Amino acid sequence: MPVKDRVPRKLDPRLAIHGGEPVRKRPFAPHPVLGPEERRGVLSVLKTGQLSGFVAKPGDAFLGGAQVRQLENAVRRRLGCRHAVAMNSATSSLHAAVVACGIEPGDEVIVPPYTMSASASAVLMAGGIPVFADVDPVRYCLDPADVERRIGPRTRAILVVHLFGHPAPMDRLRAIARKRSLWIIEDCAQAPGAMYKGRPVGTLGDVGVYSLNQHKTITTGEGGWAITANPKLALKMQLVRNHGEVVQDHLPEADFAPVLGWNYRMTELEAAVGVAQLAKLDALTRHRVRLAEYLTGRLRGLSGLSLPEAAAGCTHVYFVYPIRYDAALTGIPRDIFLKALAAEGIPFAGGYVRPIYREPIYRKRRMYERSGYPFDLQKGANVDNYREGSCPVAEDAHARSLIMTGLCRYPLTRADMDDIAHAVIKVLRQRRVLGGPS
Ligand SMILES: *Cc1c(COP(=O)(O)O)cnc(C)c1O
Repeated sequence: MPVKDRVPRKLDPRLAIHGGEPVRKRPFAPHPVLGPEERRGVLSVLKTGQLSGFVAKPGDAFLGGAQVRQLENAVRRRLGCRHAVAMNSATSSLHAAVVACGIEPGDEVIVPPYTMSASASAVLMAGGIPVFADVDPVRYCLDPADVERRIGPRTRAILVVHLFGHPAPMDRLRAIARKRSLWIIEDCAQAPGAMYKGRPVGTLGDVGVYSLNQHKTITTGEGGWAITANPKLALKMQLVRNHGEVVQDHLPEADFAPVLGWNYRMTELEAAVGVAQLAKLDALTRHRVRLAEYLTGRLRGLSGLSLPEAAAGCTHVYFVYPIRYDAALTGIPRDIFLKALAAEGIPFAGGYVRPIYREPIYRKRRMYERSGYPFDLQKGANVDNYREGSCPVAEDAHARSLIMTGLCRYPLTRADMDDIAHAVIKVLRQRRVLGGPS
């Protein structure tokens, strides 16, 4: 359909920011939607009177209660992996993964700067030093060429993020990791359901981490899990999860350096919700993909918008629907475009997060009042890594070229996508009144 015919004639052509009628007046239906399955699970736990099955002592209860194990078994089956360790968040799980990989104070871990802050702070929590490598300008995941440039003598791991629902280029990252003997930790918080060359994300590196927080595709309110094929990594993460320092002596197979544990335990209530949510993952993912592909069809061919697309061999699960925005082609500055769109009732974000290294902890290379630990352990080429300009692609995406929406999700419909498309087209047509000097 030609672009000019894609908007119903009855729509008010005057922009809502100029007093016209907005395309959309109703709010979008909230996500997630919990059903009788989750309620049944929670009630069955309440009836037992025991909300957590964990005990930090040698013995069976060290590994948690019946629901936690059921969730871990379901995860193993669904993702085809040997070990799953359910925890109280993805942040905890990332930290446990970093500890399990033996990252020591002053060790460097390569991380993208364009991700949720926890991907990098998990490294700092273990005394490691995040070194940021830039992302690619199409899918915003780690750029393997830049990863290679940042590797130094103290690099021990690559923490890969499958951002916005699209897998990172794992073949090339794995080849780099193999050559340099680096661990790979995959942050899959935004990509549950995504596949890379026939395999679920999280099974391509050494450890894969998923999130179950309120804003993710499936949720337990708070929660997460780590998966691995490596029994030693699994055991170490179990020790980190539940005060392992008082248990390790009783486990003959734990013949590695003593592990300091935290409390990363998941309650039975969350696990019961998680079991019900995991059973819905495939349907929720299909829903996202269908809506996103429909929206792409409606927006295709608009000058200045580059629409998301899955790379060969990958599935995109559209946790976010990202669009590369070129103001030189649309003729409308990004902030004005977004304001006009919001007035039409369609919220889009300009950029995702400020590149993480611009946050004070990195900018100042400091996280304690008196001590410079762990940053003062770092020496060599990567010391300058947190300076402005360090990762220009991420900085440009944030400041200028990325816009995105999280609306391609259950329970929204094609009619909702039509509203998004109509508003985008309506605003783009008003470039003469919105464009400012050109
Ligand atoms: C949400 C998210 C996390 C953290 O998840 P929590 O479960 O809230 O700790 C980590 N990484 C990415 C990429 C995320 O989107």
